[in-house]
Amino acid sequence: MKYERIRKIVLDAILDAVGQGLIKGTSGNIALRDDEDDVVAITPSGIAYSTMTAEDIAIVDMNGKWLDGPYKPSSEVPMHTAVMRARPDVKATVHTHAMFATIMAMGDGEIKATTPPQCEFVPVRVVPFTMPGSDDVADKVVEALGEEGRACLIKNHGMFCCGKDMKAAMSATVYTEEMAVTEYHARLLGTYEPMPQEAVDAMQALIKADQAV
Ligand SMILES: [Zn+2]
Repeated sequence: MKYERIRKIVLDAILDAVGQGLIKGTSGNIALRDDEDDVVAITPSGIAYSTMTAEDIAIVDMNGKWLDGPYKPSSEVPMHTAVMRARPDVKATVHTHAMFATIMAMGDGEIKATTPPQCEFVPVRVVPFTMPGSDDVADKVVEALGEEGRACLIKNHGMFCCGKDMKAAMSATVYTEEMAVTEYHARLLGTYEPMPQEAVDAMQALIKADQAV
């Protein structure tokens, strides 16, 4: 099997996301860029994840052109490859319709960190709704992430996260959903209070210093 390593990582990640309840049915998609060749492994469109094998994972080029695999790549391929083209530091991307991120995406602002580990992934901006699978949504996600962004929400749709490897992209996904869960419940209780900006800045400086080691 060609590109076995990246196909296996994508398969493991999608099963992990399903196991954690971040992905339901055939929604959501995950992609990983190969370190040497300019190809991307991405989940196929409309295939049940529970019975998926590594060979079923599609391979596309950096412009989303289908190169290998028995099933058509995810219809969201433009979003994944656009972010990878814009951000050479990004090797892995995760798009899910996780429930609380989707709920919080209906707001117009951004979601904020409420606990120290979440600081790595803020700001999390909201991208206005555009048709799924379009170049338009891909451009808006690229814009919302900017040069260093790790996560954004897409209005009436879900979230999009990225990282230097699959572990980092999955971590952004887990913590973005956690941020959304926390804010949703705290707002219902009337106790919502995000971390002060100075504390977020201090945490981000610590995280950066730690990652530089
Ligand atoms: Zn979607």
